[in-house]
Amino acid sequence: MTESLDLAGIGIGPFNLSLAAQLDSIAGPEVRFFDRKPQFAWHPGMMLPGVELQTSFLKDLVMATNPTSPWSFIAYLVAHKRFYEFLNADFEAVPRREFARYLAWVAENLPTLHFGREVREVSFDGEFFKLSFDSEERLARNLSLGVGLAPHIPAWAEPVMGDRAFHSSEAAYILDNIEGRRIMVVGGGQSGAEIVLNLLLNAPAGTEISWISRRPNFQPLDDTPFTNELFTPNYVERFHALAEPRRRATVAHQKLAGDGISTSTLCAIYRRLYELRHLSVEGPQTNLLPHREVLDLAQEGDEMRFVMRNGFDGGIETLDADALVLATGYSFALPECLSPLGERLALDENGLPRLAADFSIQWDGPADCRIFALNAGRFSHGIAEPQLSLMAWRSAMIVNALMGQRHFDLEHPAHFMYWTGEDNRAQPAGASALRA
Ligand SMILES: Cc1cc2nc3c(=O)[nH]c(=O)nc-3n(C[C@H](O)[C@H](O)[C@H](O)COP(=O)(O)OP(=O)(O)OC[C@H]3O[C@@H](n4cnc5c(N)ncnc54)[C@H](O)[C@@H]3O)c2cc1C
Repeated sequence: MTESLDLAGIGIGPFNLSLAAQLDSIAGPEVRFFDRKPQFAWHPGMMLPGVELQTSFLKDLVMATNPTSPWSFIAYLVAHKRFYEFLNADFEAVPRREFARYLAWVAENLPTLHFGREVREVSFDGEFFKLSFDSEERLARNLSLGVGLAPHIPAWAEPVMGDRAFHSSEAAYILDNIEGRRIMVVGGGQSGAEIVLNLLLNAPAGTEISWISRRPNFQPLDDTPFTNELFTPNYVERFHALAEPRRRATVAHQKLAGDGISTSTLCAIYRRLYELRHLSVEGPQTNLLPHREVLDLAQEGDEMRFVMRNGFDGGIETLDADALVLATGYSFALPECLSPLGERLALDENGLPRLAADFSIQWDGPADCRIFALNAGRFSHGIAEPQLSLMAWRSAMIVNALMGQRHFDLEHPAHFMYWTGEDNRAQPAGASALRA
């Protein structure tokens, strides 16, 4: 066993990568990050041709709190000698492939990252966390859990998962060779839309694509200024201070702020449908089925029969298909490797870890041994949690907590929006007429 670490990171997706990049600028803490994958890869199973980032490239790993870091997206462009060409390309949205290459470049260059190392088990000996790998162990004072989200498979789909039914996280490997003429895509978010567009562009004539969404229509991401205020540290701090039931209710109302379809993808789908219908272009047939909820799925041989409720007219409908793509999203679950700590972690009534403002899980261990959880706080820190938007700020919060000092200056002035009466009282005298 080698010397103990100040922090061990489990998983190296963009979120722990951001923390590693922020820590790279700080002398002192001994940190290491581990991932089971052989090398960095950002959602490779959804890297379909033409897919775009839904976030500004300025919301990169570091920029928002550490603009002079060598690990910014701009630094990547300069290092790869494509700064001017990138500007001239004038992308409305950055290709996801480009952002993935940026992330991989940072991952290749940070010395604290170790790939091909799955954390099998984490226990606590009263002073240190002990991380067990296949053939070694490491001790660490603090952990940062960056294991991402698990694909969500609805209960009705579980019995059919396999060759002809798969989650969107595997789409790039399977979509081109999908078996079956009638393909059902379930899910009205960005992944569902990207898969439908891909099929509309590539599936041969004679294919029938059905697209189901529980939402009342195929709805756009709300990317307007006041909605984007939900993706600011100011909002996250106010949100975290709310009572738990109120947070859940708030998140339920904010679906389209984080999980709608990019307008460019909606337009591309609509234009392709137009070409196929009116301009004599050969391609697949389409059934667009918004406001449908799948109630049941029966399998007979290779055929699947879906039973759905139509939320528009209240009717019950059935539809047959040969293949199923589930674009049904992802959710957080505590990873298996933390089981030895299970009883000691404070969980909410839905089994999710209770997170303090600094993203550490509340537990019964010593206060200076923390488990920071990234991407686990949709219901504690709000809808920005699973997005890239605030990763640089969240990492800076965690660095400050780890260092026990204000290494990053995260103070911010009062905002336009008075989320609470407190916000109103914080305004300069005369700036607001609101009586709280
Ligand atoms: C297709 C897709 C596109 C997206 N596009 C955007 C976007 O444009 N804008 C935006 O804001 N957000 C986007 N998101 C949301 C979010 O940015 C990503 O999901 C992001 O990858 C989350 O990062 P993460 O670090 O939490 O997890 P992940 O990227 O999932 O990484 C987790 C890592 O943990 C590793 N791991 C897990 N368990 C262990 C273990 N026991 N030991 C070692 N390693 C382990 C895994 O191998 C994996 O590499 C997108 C999400 C998806 C699915």
